[in-house]
Amino acid sequence: MKTMTCADLGGPCGLEHRAETADEIIQAQDRHLKEAVKAGDEAHVPAREDMKGRWRHPKKSLDWYNGVKSAFAELPAS
Ligand SMILES: [Zn+2]
Repeated sequence: MKTMTCADLGGPCGLEHRAETADEIIQAQDRHLKEAVKAGDEAHVPAREDMKGRWRHPKKSLDWYNGVKSAFAELPAS
């Protein structure tokens, strides 16, 4: 398992996500952003909008996605 925080993934807080793959960690962040915004957390709105934009424009978002993947790959497993 590896750990990345909300902030590592472009969000505003230090919540930690743990996952086996970069895809899982991105999905965990997506869920976290949705839940935070639903709960009325304004600070997470811009990150949520960015994430929604990525799903709509996957090709344009490849740089971000590959950045997360390589950051994830370099993390020590724990
Ligand atoms: Zn957060």
